[in-house]
Amino acid sequence: MSSVFSLVHTLIRPEILALSAYHVPESGGFIKLDAMENPYLVPQSLQDEIAAAVACAPINRYPDPNPSLLKEKIRHLLDLPDGMDVLLGNGSDELIQLLAMAVNKPGAVLLSVEPSFVMYKMISTFIGMRYAGVPLAEDFSLDLPVMLETIEREKPALVFLAYPNNPTGNLFSCDEVRQIIAASPGLVVLDEAYYAFARDSFVPHLAQYPNLLVMRTFSKLGMAGLRLGFLAGSSLWLAQLEKLRLPYNVGVLPQLVAEKLLDNHPVLLEQADKIKQDRALLATRLSEIAGVRVYPSEANFLLFCVENATAVFLGLKQRNILIKNLNGGHPMLTNCLRVTVGTPDENQAFIVALQDVLSA
Ligand SMILES: *Cc1c(COP(=O)(O)O)cnc(C)c1O
Repeated sequence: MSSVFSLVHTLIRPEILALSAYHVPESGGFIKLDAMENPYLVPQSLQDEIAAAVACAPINRYPDPNPSLLKEKIRHLLDLPDGMDVLLGNGSDELIQLLAMAVNKPGAVLLSVEPSFVMYKMISTFIGMRYAGVPLAEDFSLDLPVMLETIEREKPALVFLAYPNNPTGNLFSCDEVRQIIAASPGLVVLDEAYYAFARDSFVPHLAQYPNLLVMRTFSKLGMAGLRLGFLAGSSLWLAQLEKLRLPYNVGVLPQLVAEKLLDNHPVLLEQADKIKQDRALLATRLSEIAGVRVYPSEANFLLFCVENATAVFLGLKQRNILIKNLNGGHPMLTNCLRVTVGTPDENQAFIVALQDVLSA
């Protein structure tokens, strides 16, 4: 009889064997500035309201497979015109996978830029789809000529652009993104995970392009634990994608809590505004530290570079501050670190610890 080990290595696809699992570090006890979470809970009165709603939630039943109330609230928030709808996902990660599965004909290509959100490439590997990554320019803007050339050559069925981009934090030129949408024979998805912190959005342009969808998540806006993302765009696209959605992908409790939170969307946007102000402050403090180069950000995090980034990352960790080490990943991110904007106290603790590490 074969050992488990040999069976596993015989049966699992080689590209899966070659993967390392998405690493989520242990964060207990740390000041957690690694995952772009909103550092604030909602006000006590809203917590009470949520608690009351959850107490009598019908958790004995399967969730509403088509939560029309929640979808209506999102449509309203986005001011979607007729003919457009939203599709809900268990986080936007699930929607990336669903989109890729839907268009993955033999030989189909998923295209994105690099460095960007790693799930685009990982999910193409998961489902056996070809992937093309176009390097960004040195300042992390789009390299438009190469982008257009690659689109012409590869004819990608699916293009993902994070707007603003993660982990670089910048917003690509709206005009260049428009050129990419116009030149693409396939579907272009603008991933607006950081919409609440950015100056611009493609939601108002949805009706203008037949091949455009906008994806958003509530994760970065104080609901990371709920796992709720959505795609917005033409009902014709969404009706096809709907067939691939697992019927109960968003549970009873996330639906219910998200409804309450969306009724209080201004509360969340106030938190986002506060985070934007603190981002400016943190960027200034960082830029004042000798040897630190900080990049402009339209998200709730800052990318910065420093000599010996891995040692700095570990030094911060020793001082109880957890951020994200990007050094050793993409070559354009050599010596780069990413810090999420936290509460003013957390940001202060981070700056003090960083100064301490750098002067040690
Ligand atoms: C965080 C992030 C997501 C993931 O969102 P979830 O809804 O939590 O799955 C998607 N896209 C980008 C660019 C992100 O940074």
